[in-house]
Amino acid sequence: MRIKPVMLALSATLFLLPILAQDSKISYKSTELAPGLYMLEGQGGFAGGNVGLSTGEDGVVLIDDGLPPLTGTLLAAIGKLTEDPVKFVINTHVHGDHVGGNEALGTLGAVILAHDNLRLRMVADGMTTADGKAPAPKAALPVLTFSDSVTFHLNGRRAFVFHVEHAHTDGDAVIHFLDDNIIHVGDVMFNGLFPFIDLDSGGSVEGYIAAQKRILALADEQTKIIPGHGPLASRKDLQTAVDMLQGAHDRVRRLVDAGQSEEAILAANPLEDYHDDWNWGFITTERMTRTLYRALTEK
Ligand SMILES: [Zn+2]
Repeated sequence: MRIKPVMLALSATLFLLPILAQDSKISYKSTELAPGLYMLEGQGGFAGGNVGLSTGEDGVVLIDDGLPPLTGTLLAAIGKLTEDPVKFVINTHVHGDHVGGNEALGTLGAVILAHDNLRLRMVADGMTTADGKAPAPKAALPVLTFSDSVTFHLNGRRAFVFHVEHAHTDGDAVIHFLDDNIIHVGDVMFNGLFPFIDLDSGGSVEGYIAAQKRILALADEQTKIIPGHGPLASRKDLQTAVDMLQGAHDRVRRLVDAGQSEEAILAANPLEDYHDDWNWGFITTERMTRTLYRALTEK
């Protein structure tokens, strides 16, 4: 398994955003996946989810925009790749480490697009901040929302944006660059890490597995998959992730069906042999087990 110390630091930052997010050591590494199409990954600390970027003659399209204190850092990284302003922002889901730059970018004139439910949640629940939740400022709200799918025709490529139901949240968007065989899946994939499945925001384990299988069906051996967190992924990586989650789900279900309590299941540690490869500070083996238990027993 890779870079555990980094992952532990990353997990801690989810609770200590103001400290590490302002770490001046944070920068973005950009990888060109196709001409004018990039993946941007934060380095040196937790910078939020992986960002996608389409540049070209028709303007800049950004997929997710990280944490609020780092918007300047993100814009500087984008500025090294294009001189054009960000025209569109696509939000993959409502979490603060993916929509943190919305207010600044909306104020700068970017048009923000997201699934209907993301906007509803942002209006109803506000946005995640270092201190909890705060009302979302108008500039941070998506001005375009969609229910099922929408397609961008910009920069000589199609970006097919589609909704997967009740997966990581209830407002997830997946972006498929049809002409490039590249898919930004947001937090429907944590590459090499136990996934966070936000049951409190409309996510579900079965929906998460179904969404991953739907993406698998779109992918081939050459497909480049941008996960919400972790390094650039292949179809094989996604297959491994689905197999793990399905296996973990089945193991916990067997114990639930046998009438075991949550604490008894934790003591039995059914995910033990996944631990070395998938455990990390934010979603530990224990937390993954508890999530699976809760998802199976709350129905
Ligand atoms: Zn998320």
